[in-house]
Amino acid sequence: MKRLLIMGPPGAGKGTQAISLASTINGAHISTGDIFRANVSGETELGKIAKRFMDNGEYVPDEVTNAMVKDRLNQDDVKEAFLLDGYPRTLDQVHTLDEILAELGSSLDGVIALTVDSEELIERLLERAKVSGRTDDTEVVIRHRQTIYTSETAPLLDVYRERGILHEIDGMGTPEEVGARISAVVNR
Ligand code: AMP
Repeated sequence: MKRLLIMGPPGAGKGTQAISLASTINGAHISTGDIFRANVSGETELGKIAKRFMDNGEYVPDEVTNAMVKDRLNQDDVKEAFLLDGYPRTLDQVHTLDEILAELGSSLDGVIALTVDSEELIERLLERAKVSGRTDDTEVVIRHRQTIYTSETAPLLDVYRERGILHEIDGMGTPEEVGARISAVVNR
């Protein structure tokens, strides 16, 4: 598998796993959260828009996110292999991604979905909050992000399951254990 997407609720370890998985497949790591954070730090126009939503644990509007991803997927380093991390997160984004990939003559080989029980998720995020310095890592915002994930993003699992490309991976355990489970699926 060379063209992948990794999903999981906030705190599932998606970001950590994405970094090693992108290097396993030798592909471009496309993290919408990272791109937004870079724009916020750089105080770009996009960053100013994104910050308002991110700080409240809300999703950045689809039209803003879709345009940014379209631009990124059209860059040269994405041709052979890529890992989408944190996109798509809404059904509208799923449809846009389908269109972008169809235009490029490309498609997804697989979707890796990490599963972790919800109390463990909150605990992990509160631990991360102590060291991350992320302005969206407060308890109220964390809980809000979980709610939005459940309503907006969890339905995407059904879409990809129906397409037969969903691989649900147990996200409990050490990063190494989870990484080994992912590699076993991707290298199959
Ligand atoms: P992440 O690092 O993936 O947890 O993303 C951090 C924040 O960036 C999210 O809470 C959203 O505010 C925003 N964000 C990242 N990806 C998306 C997306 N696909 N759609 C909308 N907002 C996003």
